[in-house]
Amino acid sequence: MKNLRRKGLICRCGGTINVQKAFIEGFLINANVCEKCGDTGLPLDTAKELLRLREEARKIKTTRKILRIGNSIGVTLPQEAAGIGFKEGQKVEIELLGEGEIGIKRKV
Ligand SMILES: [Zn+2]
Repeated sequence: MKNLRRKGLICRCGGTINVQKAFIEGFLINANVCEKCGDTGLPLDTAKELLRLREEARKIKTTRKILRIGNSIGVTLPQEAAGIGFKEGQKVEIELLGEGEIGIKRKV
């Protein structure tokens, strides 16, 4: 893929390049994606975002034990989660990602 910085450009395959969310290294971030061949590239600002997310992922990765809280079960988040907007009182959405995996997303 070439000319990744500007919108409305053409991929080397002839397809149109669009900015859309894509999974890059497990992160859902904006990427330049060819609508024809699916080739994916990163705009410069997204590349910087990817570096930041890698660093946040490194800081937040821990092992926790599931706790009983009243009639529910729960896990605590590491303090580093505040760096990506997870703070006390923040509403979150929990969803099943796959067998043995759940995701926690800040609710806006
Ligand atoms: Zn293409």
